[in-house]
Amino acid sequence: MSNTSKHLSFFESVNRNFDRAAAHTSIPKGLLEQIKGCNAVYEMTFPVKIGNTYQVIEAFRVQHSHHRLPTKGGIRFSHMVNRDEVMALAALMSYKCALVDVPFGGAKGGVKISPRNYTEQQLELITRRYTTELIRKNFIGPGLDVPAPDYGTGSREMAWILDTYQTFKHGEIDAAACVTGKPESQNGIKGRTEATGRGVYYGIRQFLSYADDAKALGLEPGIAGKTMVIQGLGNVGSYSGSISQVEGDAIIVGVSEMEGTIVNEKGINIDKLLKFRKDKGTILGFPGTKTLPDRKDWVAINCDILVPAALENQITTENAKKVKAKIIAEAANGPVTSEAADILATKGVVRLPDMYRNAGGVTVSYFEWLKNLSHMRFGRMEKRFQENSLSNLLSTVERLTGQNVSSREKDVLTHGADEIDLVRSGLEDTMVNAYDEIRETLKRKKNIEDLRSAAFVVALNKISGDYVRLGIFP
Ligand code: NAD
Repeated sequence: MSNTSKHLSFFESVNRNFDRAAAHTSIPKGLLEQIKGCNAVYEMTFPVKIGNTYQVIEAFRVQHSHHRLPTKGGIRFSHMVNRDEVMALAALMSYKCALVDVPFGGAKGGVKISPRNYTEQQLELITRRYTTELIRKNFIGPGLDVPAPDYGTGSREMAWILDTYQTFKHGEIDAAACVTGKPESQNGIKGRTEATGRGVYYGIRQFLSYADDAKALGLEPGIAGKTMVIQGLGNVGSYSGSISQVEGDAIIVGVSEMEGTIVNEKGINIDKLLKFRKDKGTILGFPGTKTLPDRKDWVAINCDILVPAALENQITTENAKKVKAKIIAEAANGPVTSEAADILATKGVVRLPDMYRNAGGVTVSYFEWLKNLSHMRFGRMEKRFQENSLSNLLSTVERLTGQNVSSREKDVLTHGADEIDLVRSGLEDTMVNAYDEIRETLKRKKNIEDLRSAAFVVALNKISGDYVRLGIFP
């Protein structure tokens, strides 16, 4: 959308939030301007032979901030990709990384295609061609700019990117760290696929762990028994729902996808629904559920927590008034427009901001990048040592007490940390600490509007600190 249109564009919306929060900091104006703008925007077109014709594909890579390198951010495949959207998403990446203490600048990529319209081979061709453009302009590399999956892409595309990069950079010892979100068998890390959804779960759980904050919304503390509605059953939405259900005992009462919205107030089993959708190609008709007449009415379903996990601009001035939930956990980037946020605020709806809520993906991407640079899986050095120490300790306790534990208990008590244990523990710690830092900032600075502004304040102070340390600003 343009500047002259009634609504703010996505990037303008992000910057409006930025400006609000900046007023609560003492960062000099010039430095704020430096942080806010995009450092480098690469807009490209390239031809790809599809069938018997050539198609010219439009694509982008935006590096928002170079205060830390490499820059980091996913690649989106969608027919709606545009320059403004990629700039907004790149900016959010800078703030997100700062917030969760991941030492990267922000970036984002976008390829303007609808993946459904292409075969796997054609998608491979497009992905490899896009990667070649990035290599040619130094927009990819372990120390420069490191892509990851986003809407419309996954580990398959990341494997193609790595292979293309390695073909051009033969012998580069750290090449595997040029992209994250790779398949486990190709230098990926355990727990990356689920990471964003798992982070969403940890974040909601942490918010609800504060009894006073839950009570202020008329809710009991804790995630167990809370009703949730998910929009978008892709990577982020499916793991957010499934983990909240399995580990948190939340009740998923509604799911919205492209084909429609289904409800069941007794709960929808997400793992079974995913299997059903894989077999039938739709969520509609899932046993025990009703289909709403209008797909868009997912926002109006009676529930405690709405989890928009599809795309930006889903809750707008047109539908914000219909929201009945008390909490919106922004799993997608920018799902609530800045103007809709004002309406939700007057209704007393709490929004758990995207830049915090979906930071699990980039956090585990950071672990993957570190793993690639160290050329060794996590846990390799210490797992056996831990197991032997714990086993010795347990034997000593058994000898001294004359009691023996069962072999099952022994397995649990002497388990040394595997890669997946360490990844989940690092992610949980990151999400808990980041939320507590945001909450503390909100409580300390009485006039800050909401959690989003508090999250921005935390992020901006960290980024400005980096610029000062770099000696770029006094
Ligand atoms: P995805 O492509 O795996 O899934 C998105 C799902 O949303 C798809 O199933 C699609 O059919 C559905 N969808 C699209 N429009 C819809 C609509 N109007 N109504 C209902 N469903 C709709 O994408 P993803 O990776 O899960 O990303 C989703 C969001 O999360 C994006 O905003 C993305 O930027 C953000 N995000 C993703 C990651 C990640 O690690 N994948 C990390 C951080 C943020």
